[in-house]
Amino acid sequence: MPVLRLPKLPQLLDRKIYKTGQTRGADDDVIYQNRVSRSSTVLIPYRCWDLCANPQDGGDGYESGFIVLLSPLEYFGKPNITEELAAKGLALGTNALVFYETREAWQAHNPDTLKWKPAKRRTNPLGGRYVARIPATTATENGGRIIRGFDVTSNKGAGIRVYEYASSATTAECRLQLEALFWLCADSETVACSNGMTPEDAASRRAAIFAQGKESRLLDTTRLVKARILNAGGKTICPLCLEELSGQGFFNRMAQAEGREVTDLTVTQLNLFHIAELRFGVLNHRPYNVGWGHHHCNVVVKDSGILETLEWMRQVLSRNLQAGHLPTVNKAS
Ligand SMILES: [Zn+2]
Repeated sequence: MPVLRLPKLPQLLDRKIYKTGQTRGADDDVIYQNRVSRSSTVLIPYRCWDLCANPQDGGDGYESGFIVLLSPLEYFGKPNITEELAAKGLALGTNALVFYETREAWQAHNPDTLKWKPAKRRTNPLGGRYVARIPATTATENGGRIIRGFDVTSNKGAGIRVYEYASSATTAECRLQLEALFWLCADSETVACSNGMTPEDAASRRAAIFAQGKESRLLDTTRLVKARILNAGGKTICPLCLEELSGQGFFNRMAQAEGREVTDLTVTQLNLFHIAELRFGVLNHRPYNVGWGHHHCNVVVKDSGILETLEWMRQVLSRNLQAGHLPTVNKAS
C-alpha cells in the first residue's frame, strides 16, 4: 500500500497497527516463533494437512513454506507411514518432522537411539527429523525438560500457528482497514492531535486512508456493520460489548514489554479482535474479520466465538437473576 508519503501517525498508534501483522507472543517452551510476521513458515499438524495444505487466501502456497508435524504415534504407529507421507508430497526431514511432547513417547522412540538429529532449519532440508518440547517432571528420575531443535537464541521456534498465517498482501489490507477503523472513532482526530499530529496532517491522513480503503474495497460499511466492527452510525465499536471506542484507547498503557501478555491492563485498552474465532483451515486474519475491541472483551471471547460467549453470558445472567443474586433493576444507573 503506498502510504509512504502520508503524514506520519503518532508512533504508538503506528506500532500498534504494525503489530497486527505479527503473530502472538510465544513462550520459550513452545515450538512457535515469538512475534514474527504472519507470512512466516507455518506449522501444520499432520491431522490437519488436508484442510491446511494450501493457504486460504488464494495464494499458490505459504510464502515462507510450511513444516508438517507428526506425533510419535502418527509416525511410529503406522508401518507404511513413509509411503503415506510420500503420497501427499511429504517427507521427514524435508517438510515434515516428528514432534515429541511427552516423556512416554520420548522413551518409547528415543531419537538418540534412532540416531536422529533435531531439525534446525525452517526450509528444506530441515537438518533433522524431529523437534522436542517436553516439560520437566518431578515424577521420575532424570525428569528435566527436553528441548531439542530451534532452541538457540538466533533461531528460536520452528514456525507459526497455521491459523495465524496471512500473506503479505492480506496483512497489508488488514492494516489499512484497521487504521481506517481508528479514524472512524468519533474522537480520532482530536486524539491524533493530542498525540503529536497537526490538525492538517490528521485530516489529510484520515482522508487518504479512507480513499485507499475505498479503492481497495476494504470499507464496505454494510459488511463492517454486519460483522459488528462498526455500529449503524458508522462508528468503530467493540465487537463483543458493542460500546463505541475512543481513539484514546489506542494510546493507553502501550509501554509494555514486547511479546508479553500483560494481565493488569485497564478495560479501555484496545486490542486486535478477530470476529470469527481462530480455527484450522480458515484464513482468520483477513479484511472484514479484523476489528478493534476491549482487551477485556477479547479475553472473555478468547477462542470460543462471540455468539457462544453471548449465549454463555445470557445463561450466567439468567441464573443469577433467578437465584436473586442480581437485582432485576440496575442500581448503578
Ligand atoms: Zn468491549
